[in-house]
Amino acid sequence: MATFIEIQGARIHNLNNINVRIPRGMLTVITGVSGSGKSSLAFDTLYEEGKRRYLMFSGTQFIVDSTAHFDSITGMSPTAAVEQRIIRQSNPRSTVGTRTKIGNLLAVLFASYGSRHPDYEDGEPLSMEYFLRNSPKGMCVKCLGTGQYHHLDEEAIVPMNKPIKDVFDGFIMKHRFYRSSFKKFCELYDVDVNETIGTLSEEVLTLFKYGCRRSGFIGAIVVFHDIYKHSSSENNRHNGADKVVLWGVRAERIACSKCSGHGLSEHAIHTTVAGKTISELEQLEIGELLQVLRAFKDELPSSRALLDEMTLKLSCMSEVGLHHLSLSRQVPTLSGGEIQRLFLASYIIAEMDSIIYIFDEPTIGLHETEKALLIRVIRSLVKRGNTVVAVEHDEQFMRAADYIVDIGPGAGVNGGNRIFQGTLRQFMSCGESRIAPYLSGERSLMVKQQYKPIDEYKMLTITNATLHNLKGITVSIPLGVMVGVAGVSGSGKSSLIHHTLVPKLKQLLRGKFVYEDDDNDLAIEANEAMISGTEPIKRCIVVGQRPIGRSKTSCPATYTGIADRIRALLARTEEAMAHGYAAGLFTVNSEGSCKACKGEGVTHYHGGAGNFVEVECELCSGTGYAEEALSIRLDGRNMIDILEMSVSEAAIFFGRQQSEAYDRTIHTILTTLERVGLGYMTLGQKTTTISGGEAQRIKLAKELCKPSGRDMVYILDEPTTGLSFADTEHLISLMQQLVDAGSTVIVTEHDPSVLSNCDYLIELGPGGGREGGEVIATGTPSELIRHEHSIIGSYLRKAIG
Ligand code: ADP
Ligand code: ADP
Ligand code: ZN
Ligand code: ZN
Repeated sequence: MATFIEIQGARIHNLNNINVRIPRGMLTVITGVSGSGKSSLAFDTLYEEGKRRYLMFSGTQFIVDSTAHFDSITGMSPTAAVEQRIIRQSNPRSTVGTRTKIGNLLAVLFASYGSRHPDYEDGEPLSMEYFLRNSPKGMCVKCLGTGQYHHLDEEAIVPMNKPIKDVFDGFIMKHRFYRSSFKKFCELYDVDVNETIGTLSEEVLTLFKYGCRRSGFIGAIVVFHDIYKHSSSENNRHNGADKVVLWGVRAERIACSKCSGHGLSEHAIHTTVAGKTISELEQLEIGELLQVLRAFKDELPSSRALLDEMTLKLSCMSEVGLHHLSLSRQVPTLSGGEIQRLFLASYIIAEMDSIIYIFDEPTIGLHETEKALLIRVIRSLVKRGNTVVAVEHDEQFMRAADYIVDIGPGAGVNGGNRIFQGTLRQFMSCGESRIAPYLSGERSLMVKQQYKPIDEYKMLTITNATLHNLKGITVSIPLGVMVGVAGVSGSGKSSLIHHTLVPKLKQLLRGKFVYEDDDNDLAIEANEAMISGTEPIKRCIVVGQRPIGRSKTSCPATYTGIADRIRALLARTEEAMAHGYAAGLFTVNSEGSCKACKGEGVTHYHGGAGNFVEVECELCSGTGYAEEALSIRLDGRNMIDILEMSVSEAAIFFGRQQSEAYDRTIHTILTTLERVGLGYMTLGQKTTTISGGEAQRIKLAKELCKPSGRDMVYILDEPTTGLSFADTEHLISLMQQLVDAGSTVIVTEHDPSVLSNCDYLIELGPGGGREGGEVIATGTPSELIRHEHSIIGSYLRKAIG
């Protein structure tokens, strides 16, 4: 077997025909500044080729023919990868238990050793399927295994004291389809739209609420259900304003009354093993479940082998920092880092060898103390004879690697070269690398010189926060400074900031609240916390890591709005005016799209074995545009040329005042994208290929372009995701600028350099899950260093020196 994977002539995206060797059976870190080409090498080259060669392992999916993007790759074996950007697409029914298959083992345990409640004992032995809520035999017949359904408050939708036309604040009236149905109703029953709902006769009221099939009228509640269903589904066709209206009558998720929210059939609910039901076990945190299973071993000696298998799997999960999760936890509620570690645990459990595993920043979301454990687990994969390749920025992780590959030196067109390959020791003296100086200690991250003083009269206070594991805590967040919220994973940072503070602020601030992610994430969970001190806030902007734009044609240009302005500029050129071309021609969604591929740029054919192969469209060479659209040029460049420019190139192109391409707004947006470290990104890069960290920075840039001012509150979620040391510095100074201008920045973070640059820190803990949920320390970074209970203090000492 070859000792190296040899990649020759890699040239996808910005890669410069590079040759890279990766030692088999070792841990290799691919590093470099953001946008330098690390993912292009690890995922778009190595992983795509692994997928193409070992099709049989991947089931039905689209395979991109990657062979044109390199000359040769040797030393391959089956490849598994977890990418940040694909992680989020998971089925809401999948839970930690189903994903890891530990749920199946639990079902076997209950089928073999369960004792049934006498009332439900009907002779037939229960098979394993009776304990799986995704199987027809095991699911609750009422909620079909989900354990809950949506309850819409009818009184809120159809308030008795309001005029008919006000239903959902005129929502019906805005939609042509519903409006005509509604008109029909008024005509048929001789109802005046100004009449108060309460004055309708019982019969007409029922019709108004539930509609009448025969006369083609859709009832208000039915309309609402319909809208609700769509607004919570992926292809949301309602705009932001509508959603704000919907917010007031948001459906409550309530537990199913038949199965008390367990989602299981009656038989399963009433079966116990050593006095415990299956749902009780599923709701325990993994750490606690491990203890219970250990006790079972004594009580049920014959089940030992099964229990050993479960214990082994659960211990794996615990080691990768998932001890605070329960088996019943739904996968879509996990953070990107948690999902990635869930995959990692399943790799360990699979006990395979000779696999190439590729990870994308596996340390995301991990506290410094937890990274060491993660590294140990990854090492165990290597020990078993696997090859591990990780794209990483984390110092501790890099120091643990056997081999380093540095791609760079810069981003985009300024990157794409192999700067270094070899051991860490050799790497430290690599003069050309932008990363090495930070490892050798030649450069260190910036340290805050002076903390901004805190105004005790300007505090945003959260009182009695109890969501998830939060222990009824009260937290005061000073305004006008940079605030970091830290703690081990599962300590409650997101529960406090993203699931308590953010939805509450949304309710309190209404029009002054901007949420840059999908609104549906803001599901209101029963939450008794109170918020005070919001008076000084002029605007609150929340920027998270959800991917942007699910449509195939969306890209940074469309998302930031510059695409529309570019189209207008193109339509205003002499050539376009002479032909009578309108701005609409310059989009792949309309008459401007290629006739063969309808603007998709690719066509699919069946490649056998249930796979579809995606190939570039021949007619438009993959651009998706029709010929006429591309014949129009702005200062010599057509739409495609423009979309292929990097943000930095485009900033120059649209910034020259004497050029016909000059546009101040476009220029401002582009320079802001540069400031958040995205100068390398091309304007037309599909947003589906953009990572969570990049998405967050695009959203942040979009917000920063708006007229700023004092008293804004920015809430960010681990903004250093995907950033190298140098990029982190840029981001910190950007956040500092906001604070200097009189705004507040609140970040949930682990990165010691970001935390040491905060003016005020709130540390949650001490542990994860039930062992967390308390405030263990607050104060400036130097105060935390001296604080006896602070855990991050010791890491900050290293960062601050
Ligand atoms: P890194 O992983 O080092 O942050 P990437 O490999 O993601 O960098 O990106 C390297 C360059 O390739 C960047 O200029 C980026 O904009 C470009 N790029 C990445 N993905 C795509 C894509 N799917 N299509 C076009 N360009 C891309
Ligand atoms: P952190 O952000 O500090 O990593 P979280 O706030 O995500 O911590 O988690 C705190 C606790 O709350 C953990 O035990 C976690 O499993 C639990 N938790 C978080 N989100 C949810 C959710 N959507 N549903 C149920 N439990 C959750
Ligand atoms: Zn049910
Ligand atoms: Zn085409």
